[in-house]
Amino acid sequence: MKKVASPSCPFCPSERQTLRHLFINCTHASSFWNRFQRWYSISSNTKLLLSELEVMFGIIRCHPYCLALTHLIILGKYFLYVNALNTTRYCFDDFVSLVRDKINLEKYVAVTCNKKKEFKNKWKFFCLYKIVLYPFFSSFCIPICFFSLPICLTI
Ligand SMILES: [Zn+2]
Repeated sequence: MKKVASPSCPFCPSERQTLRHLFINCTHASSFWNRFQRWYSISSNTKLLLSELEVMFGIIRCHPYCLALTHLIILGKYFLYVNALNTTRYCFDDFVSLVRDKINLEKYVAVTCNKKKEFKNKWKFFCLYKIVLYPFFSSFCIPICFFSLPICLTI
């Protein structure tokens, strides 16, 4: 944790930095969640429209992959928090890298702890190669990181 000098949002100086502002109302946050939903929809081939409650508390409705989606939402909030703390505007590619790193770490733990089946069940819906190959830029899908290490579910 880092102490900040002002209780105001670093991106909207007239707004007090509350959890609701940080994760929902800030233009920075709403822009992020719009991109998150587009990215998720493409990556999972499932249309996603998050409510404020779902962003704040995770997925409580019946959703086949609520565990993975809630995990991604938590990572999104962590990402927004760190960006606000460092007063940096987000780059969605950095979020995709964060997700890739966390899933790779989870995969490593799953292999180490003999939990491969649970890992596969959690992430099987997510076209992980699309995370690596087709992160969203504006309205275009541009293949980048083509030569970076893809996440592979074959463990
Ligand atoms: Zn703000």
